[in-house]
Amino acid sequence: MFFFRLFFCCCRQGNSGEETWTTRKETNKTIENTSGKGRSNLQKETESRGSTKIVTTPTRTTVSPVTIFPTRELLERNREKAQAHTNSEKEWEDVKFLGVGVFGYVRLLRNVKTEEFLAFKEVKCKPTTFPSEELIESIIHSQLDHENVIRLFFWRKVGQTLFMYLEYANGGSLGDLKEALAEHDALRYFEQLREGVDFLHSRGVVHRDIKPDNLLLTEDEVLKIADLGLCSIFVWRGVEVPQRGFVGTQNYMAPEIFTGRSYRGPPVDMWACGVVLFNMLTAGLPWRRAISNDNNYVLWVHRKKKIFSRKLWNTIEGLSSLSLLKRLLAVDPSERDSNWLQLPRQENTHQ
Ligand code: AMP
Repeated sequence: MFFFRLFFCCCRQGNSGEETWTTRKETNKTIENTSGKGRSNLQKETESRGSTKIVTTPTRTTVSPVTIFPTRELLERNREKAQAHTNSEKEWEDVKFLGVGVFGYVRLLRNVKTEEFLAFKEVKCKPTTFPSEELIESIIHSQLDHENVIRLFFWRKVGQTLFMYLEYANGGSLGDLKEALAEHDALRYFEQLREGVDFLHSRGVVHRDIKPDNLLLTEDEVLKIADLGLCSIFVWRGVEVPQRGFVGTQNYMAPEIFTGRSYRGPPVDMWACGVVLFNMLTAGLPWRRAISNDNNYVLWVHRKKKIFSRKLWNTIEGLSSLSLLKRLLAVDPSERDSNWLQLPRQENTHQ
């Protein structure tokens, strides 16, 4: 029974006012094509072109998937951290409210002795399954340790409520930005997003809800991928498994999700990264809505030649950004995937 929950997704609604589509039913049918072309190739070719360092790298490493099982080791490690927090509970003060998701709120905690901060997220678990989807999300998230992914330090479950103790990002989110970013800044954030997404994929995790509201920032302008509530595992015993269902936030969902058939995991995140990049460059979207009666969307998805029908495209001046967008928003997921591996890398200036 537990295996059928492997490709779970949590039924949640986004809090951005946009429609978030989710489904519960998933399948564990495997596909033959693991599409692992070039993934183990870590060879880096670094070129210096003038002052800009470009690194052309097939970036994805061999997938070493996280476990979704609450192993003794994971639970023990979590228990120790949760216990240490409980022991120092009096040192933590509740500073302020940070935001609210569909299943609970997020608050900021500060340690009066050490000046450390924690984001404290409360989630009401659905009582229907054991372990609950929220607990599996925590088990997956606690194994993801990367600079561009919000860390989950530990969790506590009390009755039907799950308390998550997360790394605090103190600079808002990309969703708060009201104006277009300069190309240089957009590409810098994009590079960090790509690092984070690459890392998730290297651990066999597909996020499925990449969008500006889920991309938090620190005051040092480091981008952190947050909210793994819709994430899914796409590798099982070394074999890539398909995803199913309408999952994500509509305007960031890749066209194959709308077909009703199964689809590959990673290219769905790559498409969403393309929409996020467009959003950073223009403060808008390539179409009003990803829906069949939106002319811009239909032209993009159903015409082979890319038509920059929306005026916003004209505001993107950089040819490299335009070409990047065309490659990320390739309608054919396999094209998107191979493009992703060949994207030139910008040096990450925050490091
Ligand atoms: P979520 O339930 O994850 O969608 O979070 C709701 C809101 O809380 C987000 O839109 C953020 O504004 C805020 N938030 C969530 N996690 C964090 C965090 N780790 N650091 C800072 N703010 C956060």
